[in-house]
Amino acid sequence: MTTHMNYIDGHFAPSSGPRIEVYNPATHALLDTVPEADADTVERAIAAARRAQPAWARLPAIQRAGWLRRIASALRDIREDMARTLTLEQGKTLGLARVEVDFTADYLDYMAEWARRIEGEVLSSDRPGESIFLLRKPVGVVAGILPWNFPLFLIARKMAPALVTGNTIVIKPSEETPLNAFMFAHLVHGSDLPRGVFNLVGGRGSTTGSALSGSDAIDMVSFTGSVATGTRIMQAAAANLTRVNLELGGKAPAIVLADADLDLAASAITASRVINTGQVCNCAERVYVQRSAADEFITRLTARMAATRYGDPVAEPDVDMGPLVNKAGLDKVAAMVEQARKDGAQVVLGGRVADRASGFHYEPTVLINCRADMDIMRNEIFGPVLPIQLVDDLDEAVSLANASDYGLTSSLYTRDLAAAMRAIRDLQFGETYINRENFEAMQGFHAGRRKSGIGGADGKHGLYEYTETHVAYIQHG
Ligand code: NAD
Repeated sequence: MTTHMNYIDGHFAPSSGPRIEVYNPATHALLDTVPEADADTVERAIAAARRAQPAWARLPAIQRAGWLRRIASALRDIREDMARTLTLEQGKTLGLARVEVDFTADYLDYMAEWARRIEGEVLSSDRPGESIFLLRKPVGVVAGILPWNFPLFLIARKMAPALVTGNTIVIKPSEETPLNAFMFAHLVHGSDLPRGVFNLVGGRGSTTGSALSGSDAIDMVSFTGSVATGTRIMQAAAANLTRVNLELGGKAPAIVLADADLDLAASAITASRVINTGQVCNCAERVYVQRSAADEFITRLTARMAATRYGDPVAEPDVDMGPLVNKAGLDKVAAMVEQARKDGAQVVLGGRVADRASGFHYEPTVLINCRADMDIMRNEIFGPVLPIQLVDDLDEAVSLANASDYGLTSSLYTRDLAAAMRAIRDLQFGETYINRENFEAMQGFHAGRRKSGIGGADGKHGLYEYTETHVAYIQHG
């Protein structure tokens, strides 16, 4: 075991306070511990970020980007170690963990490329001899509060746009998966990033997280996680009118029309539900299939779900999916399937906690005869379970899809371009995929409607979420 320490003001700071134990969800073995930062420690981290911010913002953006590139390169150098850490603490397969490491490094490089593209505007004035400048400025000090499902990538998704635009940041990883973040802090330290620009504090949501989001010394909270926590963070931030960027849960509908390539639809939806054991905000969470193609589609989908291999992703590296992240996640999935069964859903595959000696494994599961009023069609499952409802046509599917608290991702399978264009027009979601499932592109814009969030991430629009517009009126005659 290592002795992980909070990273504050360019130093790893020893602390004598409580520590959080981190377990492997496949074996239940204790992996390591991390510190739990109290409110004073959080304030020290914010103060360090505040001190560092003006000088950091004055550097040319291209210099700030240089550090992002150096950190990306250092991350690639420890690809295998980092991937293994992600797998051990979160339970994702090693293949997916490698994808996460590579994508994180690429994301840092991608955001670095914006350094020469951050633009303001010059407007003509109504007054003679005057110019109006719209300047894009950093917000200031950002708090980044992270979930456990893509914990390393989420560091980059918050840090890279924040830093390249001249903000400084305090990151709090999830208490479930903090080890990768503490490894990442060593890469930051090794890059000689100016002290205070990046700070990392370990801790739980109720203590460290709420100290961050309720602090009046933070200028923006950038949060990814559940709707319930997002609501609490927004309430805490409201006390200081702090800006929030919230990337919250999803209940992505996958719509399969009768004219679709049913093999493509079945394999894409299965892959989407199996990847990271169904614990992805924008993966297919509910399926609407057109009645006339339902039997054929359900047969193909069920065969693919049944072929899913699962197990300990370190000891059995060929598996398609690992365990759920913790016991609470497993219990939640089991309870939701049980409730669906009581409400009249029929289990055609799985429907049970897997019979294994260890690990929070749930069998790949397909449920049919689902209805819009069932909890399993309304709330996030976050496990390898696909509930299916039959629909008459696209219009019915779209209206069921939209009648949801969530509005992050949606997908449609069809060969009919007109149907696809109608769906894109009518689906009230941040993202729509035609003939494929997630993942999103870093140059796109990842954002949720309704309770799936406020603001978004990625691309130009995600970058500018970390800026304020300052207007200067210049009388020059
Ligand atoms: P969570 O809301 O339980 O926790 C997320 C983070 O918030 C953790 O770091 C936690 O310590 C912290 N936290 C908890 N209570 C807090 C409080 N009162 N104040 C401040 N911080 C607090 O979420 P999770 O279980 O880690 O992640 C899974 C959820 O994240 C799912 O709902 C998933 O859909 C969502 N998610 C969304 C996106 C997206 O881009 N929209 C991406 C990944 C995950």
